[in-house]
Parts: sequence; C-alpha cells; structure tokens
Amino acid sequence: MSTTVTEYVCQDCGTLLRHTNPTTLESMRDVHNQLCIVKRQKTMAAQVAAPKPAAASATTTAKIHATAPAAAAAASAPAATAPASASAAGGGGGPTTISLTGTGTSYSTAQGPIDPKFKEKRQVTGTYQGIKVWGPIDPPGQLGIWGQEVCIDFDICVADGACIEACPVNVYEWLETPGHPASDKKAFMIREKDCIFCMACENVCPPQAVKIFNKG
Ligand code: SF4
Repeated sequence: MSTTVTEYVCQDCGTLLRHTNPTTLESMRDVHNQLCIVKRQKTMAAQVAAPKPAAASATTTAKIHATAPAAAAAASAPAATAPASASAAGGGGGPTTISLTGTGTSYSTAQGPIDPKFKEKRQVTGTYQGIKVWGPIDPPGQLGIWGQEVCIDFDICVADGACIEACPVNVYEWLETPGHPASDKKAFMIREKDCIFCMACENVCPPQAVKIFNKG
C-alpha cells in the first residue's frame, strides 16, 4: 500500500517540509512561517525601505497624559504634562489617560529582554484604551511597558512585526509612536483579552520585548 507524501518548500529559506497528512503539513508550514528567520529579515528590510506613512488611517494615535510617573525609576526623567485627550482613535474600548507626545526626546533604544519581574518594580502610570501602561514614561522618547497579560516593553520594541504575524487570534494592531528612538510604531495589544497564551509572540520577538503572563 503506497503512501502519498505532501511537500512544502519555503520560498524564503528553501526549507523542505514533508508529511503524509496534509493537515499536519499545513500546521508545520504555519509554524515554520512564524519562525522563519529569512522571512523575518525580509520583512524587516521591507519595513526599513518603505516610506514612512504620513498619517495613520488603520493604526491608532492617541493623546494621553502621564498622571504619576513611577518614582524611583523616573528620577532622571521629567514628568510629561500633556493634557489628556478627549478621545482615542482605533478599535479599543477603555479609558485613555496618557499621551504619546511630550518633551521626552533624550532617550536611546533600550536593550532586551523585557524584565520578567517588571510588575514588582514599576507602577501603572495610566491606561491607553483600557490597556495598562507601566511607567516610568516620558513621551515620546520613553513609553514604558504596556499590558497586563500580554506585555511589551515599548522602549525595546523595534516594530519587527513578528508578533503581529504570529498571533493566531489577532491580539495586536500597530500603534504609531512618532519620536520614539527604537521605532515609530509599536505592536499594541488592543485585544489583549482574546489572548490564548500560545506564547508565539513571545518566542518570535527578535529583541525579546514581549512577556506573556498566563492567567491560568
Ligand atoms: S501569546 Fe497571546 S498575544 Fe501572543 S501570539 Fe499567542 S495569542 Fe497572540
């Protein structure tokens, strides 16, 4: 009795995947596409080469004001004083209390990985569409760590986009962060509550800016 073997060849790195079960092969292909280094490098190169968008239509921009920068870590950072915006664009729900604009311009890109114990060291400074923001923040150059279960250190995030591509339940959307030294957009966990804790985003992030806290 003969067995049919189905194959998939990655067009970016040339990896050959083979399996007799097409469904299994499809899953193998999806996992490979999430982890393929060459594919990610091509994506990053395309992002660098692409002209910067003049305005965000599909992404979110918001005005939020820093209400209480974390005391200890904020010692060297001036407090942001931008007023709260009346509304926030995008598909989120909850309150927005901090601003992405301000006077914080003397910052450089922070190095990963994200501190897995940041919740013991930082304080929640405010919220953006209901998503917690852990200070210190000093917009636009210092934005802190965002999220409660799906957490990203925005000061480390380089907008690689691997997390957005990897997420099977579409937790993320781009958030424009002009003036930030690491990248002018961030992967915003606006649908954080949809997370199924698969860890895909944490595993694919090149600078290790993502930390998932499983509720269970
Ligand atoms: S851990 Fe959550 S946010 Fe990350 S890829 Fe999986 S479902 Fe998406």
